[in-house]
Amino acid sequence: ISSPVYNFAAGPGIMPREVLQQAREELLDWRQSGMSVMEMPFTGEAFQAIMQQAQRDLRELLGVPAGYRILFLQGGASAQFSLLPMNLLPPGATADYVDTGHWSRKAIAEGSRYARINVAASGATHDYRRIPAQAAWRPNPGAGYCHITSNETADGLAYHWLPDTGRVPLVADMTSDFLSRPIAVERFGVIYAGAQKNIGPAGLTIVIIRDDLIRPARPETPSAFSYRVQAESGGRFNTPLTYAVYIAGLVFRWLKRQGGLGAIAERNRRKSDRLYAAIDGSDLYACHQRAADRSAMNACFHLADASLTTEFLQQARQQGLLNLHGHPAVGGLRASLYNAMPDAGVDALIAFMRAFAARHA
Ligand code: PMP
Repeated sequence: ISSPVYNFAAGPGIMPREVLQQAREELLDWRQSGMSVMEMPFTGEAFQAIMQQAQRDLRELLGVPAGYRILFLQGGASAQFSLLPMNLLPPGATADYVDTGHWSRKAIAEGSRYARINVAASGATHDYRRIPAQAAWRPNPGAGYCHITSNETADGLAYHWLPDTGRVPLVADMTSDFLSRPIAVERFGVIYAGAQKNIGPAGLTIVIIRDDLIRPARPETPSAFSYRVQAESGGRFNTPLTYAVYIAGLVFRWLKRQGGLGAIAERNRRKSDRLYAAIDGSDLYACHQRAADRSAMNACFHLADASLTTEFLQQARQQGLLNLHGHPAVGGLRASLYNAMPDAGVDALIAFMRAFAARHA
């Protein structure tokens, strides 16, 4: 594999180089504490300072208003598919879900074990090539919440507008676009995200929840997964993912140095605009997603001649362009352009795509 290497994986995905370097420098002895962060008691002063700083930096980056709690949980976003209804809904309650692709279908399948689910709108009617316009949604006014997937990692779709669900709390799985752009947190009841795209190591799961939604969970909910228990204990109920929280904290600091979410969003838009223009401008590549709904994080596309896909992936790999395969459920190609992907990575990918197309003209 030639270097430099660019990792286009959908997640776990590319991390900022500077963060990995800093972690390496601090690995054995964190700021003359005599310990690695991995070795620190989680209730001790040093780790508590790391966690509180991470909380403050995240609150500042996203503009999380007073009246919202930030929880650092374990289990990944898939666990939240169950924990949401277990924490928010009494048995027999209903919830609205909007089906925009692979990950919303997963959330619906898991959620329907705990709640009566109304699929308020489904992208299936347009073959998952667009986000259903809100005018076409059929919400249930009695729903306990309305769940959306703000960025469909496997399908390459994203909301570029905010639904208005009135008094029904809006809940979003932001796993694959969290911290990629500014968001109006106050428009949401709950935001959750697995860390392995734009935040840090897999397993860490961030839940941002409005205070009035922090209720006693259903009795069968493990206490470690009760939003209320976790919120009331300030993350001390059980051992948090200490090292992952530390890395996430370094990423938040890195994002602040990049100029915050406004600046990063602008860069992300530029990167994805250039890639989509290269795809649209060539007969060899195609992207089916409606332009207005395309994801800036996960560009999903394919070769007009699908039989060239293996060759494309092999040659890309040799050039140091890694993990460009589509999600197994979707196939084709996918370039994930998370915050840490430099412009040079996008340049290298576009140059490779042009050369590959010229060889197959
Ligand atoms: N939601 C979305 C949008 C995702 O992209 C993913 C993972 N790719 C998940 C949920 C599931 O995350 P995890 O594997 O951490 O459970």
